[in-house]
Amino acid sequence: MTMMPGTPFAGSNVVFEITGLEPWDIVEVTFYEPDGNAAGWVRDDHYVSSRSTEYFLTDEEGNARWVRYGAQDQVGDWTVHVTIDDALRIIRYSYTKFPLPRREYITLGVPLYGCRSDEAVIFFSDSVNFAVTVDMHARLKFAADLLEERLGVRTAEIPVIYMLGNQADFASSIRAAGEEPGWEAGFFRSYGENPGIYIQSDKQQTDLYHLMTHEYVHFLLDEVTDGADLPSWLNEGLAEYYEFEVGRQGDFPDASYRRMLWSGDVAQRAAAGGWLFPLSRLESLREWNSRAVDLVSLQYAQSHMAVRYLSERYGERAPIEIVRQIGMGESLNAAIGNAIGVDYAQFEADFVDWLAAWDDPERAAARSYLRVLNDLDGEVSAILDLRGEVIREWSLHGNRAKAEEGAAELQERAENLVARMRELEPTPYVAGLHDAAVAYFDILESWLAEDLGYFITGQDSKRVAANAMIPEFTYRRVDLGLRLYDAMLILNLYN
Ligand SMILES: [Zn+2]
Repeated sequence: MTMMPGTPFAGSNVVFEITGLEPWDIVEVTFYEPDGNAAGWVRDDHYVSSRSTEYFLTDEEGNARWVRYGAQDQVGDWTVHVTIDDALRIIRYSYTKFPLPRREYITLGVPLYGCRSDEAVIFFSDSVNFAVTVDMHARLKFAADLLEERLGVRTAEIPVIYMLGNQADFASSIRAAGEEPGWEAGFFRSYGENPGIYIQSDKQQTDLYHLMTHEYVHFLLDEVTDGADLPSWLNEGLAEYYEFEVGRQGDFPDASYRRMLWSGDVAQRAAAGGWLFPLSRLESLREWNSRAVDLVSLQYAQSHMAVRYLSERYGERAPIEIVRQIGMGESLNAAIGNAIGVDYAQFEADFVDWLAAWDDPERAAARSYLRVLNDLDGEVSAILDLRGEVIREWSLHGNRAKAEEGAAELQERAENLVARMRELEPTPYVAGLHDAAVAYFDILESWLAEDLGYFITGQDSKRVAANAMIPEFTYRRVDLGLRLYDAMLILNLYN
């Protein structure tokens, strides 16, 4: 059993690897916090599961691997319970506190430590893991570089970021800065005594990165317009669009992809159902901020998609061109006309039509693959049912000829299934899933060949050989099932 890194700092991710087990074995894993409570499982998409126990399967070499995403894990002694074949192993490890380098110190509602890099100044409260703030410097550089490449703009000033580890600290800091906290978990202001980006940081990595990129885009646009007011849909839409775009280029693309599709689907359903906001109702910041909580996700989603439409239809720099025109004093109407050659009303009508029919192209391609794979998996179930009937028929009536007939039909259906499987053309998104499916159908075919050979010949060696394949068959079946479930979840297809 190995851990990487061996002595993790609080806030970092830890990879666990266990080797030398039997192939295709089940490994049950639960993490316990320093206070002894079971910790919520953090999934690969950085959503915290309501379950604290997860199951892994060893591969053909007897290895299993899992990651603890530790952004919110506090300093102290942690315990991992690993159960394999009813035997419990207890692993203890400690998160140590990252040694703080030379630091600045301020009070803004709560005491904050500060750390400066070439990219940012980040102040953070005691409840935020320092390792997470270190990571944020690197992520900010990543986001700023990508935005510069895509939009051709970069801030002259480096941003000041305030990371507050919980809602109470976040609210006190915002009040100390002279503002009233609302429902946002992120906040940017360019004026007053402590300008900068405020982030409620009780979140896993992906949501932290998204918030930071989102607020950084506001900071960037504020520089581009020299502080001029932008219509909220354009300002928020750019922030939303790029938090997804930057996230999808980062280390956890699927986690960002899932959030992007969710937002796109919220807007698409509203367009198809006719309950989008008129864009004119998404211009005023006051109106935006005072909207009832149940409408908040739609206003963000619709704005995100308005910017996606602008970028995809008129080029990636079209939205920033509108921003620039507004910064030069043009009206929104004129800015849109100058930037894309279509007036505001026409743009909105085209946008709504496009959105009502929208689907993400990568998902659309994967969707038909997933549908066929799902059909094939249904055919596996039908084959297994038929196999059960053939066995029953044989053991009840001992009718050998009938068993042989059934076996031949099974064989034919299995071969047909594998042939259809081989014809499937995976899209890049489902490549990993496809490999798992090929391995599953291969073992199914080999297993059925031995199994049916036994029906036909009655040779016991064939029965033994068939049974020896069952653990791998079970593993492949579960593995494919889990991957299929994850793909459907990420692609937001469970609606
Ligand atoms: Zn925003």
